[in-house]
Formats: sequence, C-alpha cells, structure tokens
Amino acid sequence: MNSGADKGRITGLPPLALYVHLPWCVRKCPYCDFNSHAAPDEIPAKEYSAALLADLETELPDVWGRPVSSIFFGGGTPSLFNAAWFADLLRQLRSRLRLVPDVEITLEANPGTTEYDSFSAYRDAGINRVSLGVQSFNDSLLERIGRIHGRAEIDRAIDSIHRSGLGNFNIDLMYALPDQTVPEAVSDIRQAIASGPNHISHYQLTLEPNTAFNASPPDLPDADTAWKMQDRCWQQMRDAGFRQYEISAWAKEGHRCRHNMNYWQYGDFLGIGAGAHSKVTLPSEDFVRRRVRHRHPKTYMQARQSGKFLVEDRFINKEERVFEFFLNQLRLYDGVRKEQLTERTGVAWNDVSDRVQTAVNRGLLSDAGTVLKPTGLGWRFSNETQAIFLPAET
Ligand code: SF4
Repeated sequence: MNSGADKGRITGLPPLALYVHLPWCVRKCPYCDFNSHAAPDEIPAKEYSAALLADLETELPDVWGRPVSSIFFGGGTPSLFNAAWFADLLRQLRSRLRLVPDVEITLEANPGTTEYDSFSAYRDAGINRVSLGVQSFNDSLLERIGRIHGRAEIDRAIDSIHRSGLGNFNIDLMYALPDQTVPEAVSDIRQAIASGPNHISHYQLTLEPNTAFNASPPDLPDADTAWKMQDRCWQQMRDAGFRQYEISAWAKEGHRCRHNMNYWQYGDFLGIGAGAHSKVTLPSEDFVRRRVRHRHPKTYMQARQSGKFLVEDRFINKEERVFEFFLNQLRLYDGVRKEQLTERTGVAWNDVSDRVQTAVNRGLLSDAGTVLKPTGLGWRFSNETQAIFLPAET
C-alpha cells in the first residue's frame, strides 16, 4: 500500500442511488457480456420481486434515512416486466426508502419487447426516464449483431415513447459494427438524433471475453475506420446541440443521466438483483463497503430462503478507493473536483499529488487549480491514465 494513503478520513456522505437488476432477455446477443439470461417461458416476476425486497432489507441498516436521488431498472431487458409489476415494486421501494421528490427513475427497454406494455403505462407506474436499446436503425446491421428487433419495432417503440409524454429518453447506439461503413454509422446517428431523444449513449462495439462474438469474431471495421466513424458521429451530435459529458454519453442541456453521473462521481449505490453490486460509505467507521450478489437468477431467488444473497462482502481499502475514484471521475469531460477526493475516499490530496503530477507531465491530465481534467490525449489513452492510479502491490 502507498505509504501516505492512510492519512485523512472520509468527510461526507455522497448521494445515494438504487440500481435494480432484471436479468432476463428474449435471447442472448452474441456480443453481450452483461449478466443476462434467456428468459423462461414465464418470468417468475412475483418470486423475483420478493427476492429483490428481501435483498434490499439486508442493506437498509447501512443507509437508514439517507435520501435516494435516482433508481435505475437495468438488465437484461427490464421491459419484459409489465407496468403493474413496476407500480407495485415502486410502492414497496417507497415504503422502505426516502426518495427525493424529483427522483429520476429510469427503465431500460428494448424494441421488440415493449409490446409487453405501453410507455404510457410505464409512466403511470412511476417511470420518468427511458433508455431505449436501439443499437442501429439498419435492419441488416441489427441482424448481424443478433438483435431480436428490426427497424419497424424501433419506430413503434419511439412512437410509443412520444405518445406517452415521456420526453426524457435516451437512445443507446453502437458503431463499428460488423462490416459497417462510415456513411452507415453517420446515417444511424442522424436517425437517432431525428427521433428526438435528449440523451444519446454512443458506444463502439468491442469483443468481450466469454461472448459468442469473441469465440467466433465477425469482421469489424479497422481502427482507422472506427476512428472516422466516431469523429463524424460526434460532429453530428455537436451540431444537433448535444454535449459530450462522458466518454460515451451525450446530452442536451439539463439532461445528463443523474444515475450514471453518481457512479462516475464515486457516489454511493445500492444494487439489488442477480449479480448486482453495492457501494456504501460509512463515514463514522471510515469504511467503504462493497457487496456483490449471486449472479444466476435461480440461485439469487433461492437465496431468499436463507437471506444469503451475497458472494462478496468486504471493505474497500484506501488504495483501491483512490483507483476507483480516478477510474470513474476521469471518464467525465468536466474532470475531478479535487475536494471530492478526501470527502469520498478518506485520502488526502497530498497523498496522490505525485501520481497526478506524473499524469500531468505525460500530457494525460491538466491541473486547473480546483479541478483536474483529462486532456484529449488522456481521454484517448484512458487506460494509460488509469494505470497511474492502480493500487500498489501489497
Ligand atoms: S438485450 Fe442487452 S442485456 Fe440482453 S443480451 Fe442483448 S445486449 Fe445483453
């Protein structure tokens, strides 16, 4: 451990968010490394919500009375659950947690599954933000990446979002898809912008271990082509009034995703559901606690009998906190507010200043007094920047 990292104490409580993992999809996409599982004929919705609530109860003693600023239903494909199920679950969550009056509640939805309920019904259930997994507007590309939906399902889903009045919505879009050309990537981003979201998450397709694409890779565009796609798509978003605030996240003024901002600013979160993680700060003990649940939905639901949902429950040491803090905060275009380091990790700025200086000297970070920002180079080579803050060998 770095010799200086034992100085300082956590001086405040960061905002608290709730993540709820819903682990089923119609089928597994070949590039996906999320904790998602092909859905059974009938999703055990009642059993799963009972497990979620029992799981939440185990976390409550550490967060009692703290306001919750956002809830995110992620997956998997949460839109496989109907609106009545969300309405009931949200009632139960409100009776156990203090939600702020303008709490952001996001539902991840996939075209081709939204026929389970309309977005008006989800809005009436309490959802006030939607993240739609479009990925591409091109039928042939959607087929190449193994999505269950096509253009017609996307149009229906977007129309349903607009009719519901849920103006606060995100489109997830990928680029550098198998055999995709630069004009096709630009056409996709233009169509995403034209469909009226106030947020776009724009990701490059990468081959992740333990996926079907990794075992049998498709022909992906080379690095130069992917760079051109990124450059031209970014320009389209800038021209349309979106501002990039994180490596993959673009928003119109006032529409950054509060839930994700909290992760990136090293805030606290409860994560309930199969495979979900929690990170909770306990200032009086100067601890940050990490908990991880069973990944498989069946094992997770069975754990309700014993109350043993966890596969990991430990305190994060100060060197790990420093790494996680910079790993997350340096994804943000606005960079790191230095005062948050001690507040959220319990480590004094002086204890990291040598490493910060190394990154500044290499042109990866720029030091602007109270704020530390990644440079263009630092953003492009974010792995190199992060490596500087890796925990020392113990
Ligand atoms: S829909 Fe999303 S979570 Fe489900 S398998 Fe495909 S990429 Fe993974």
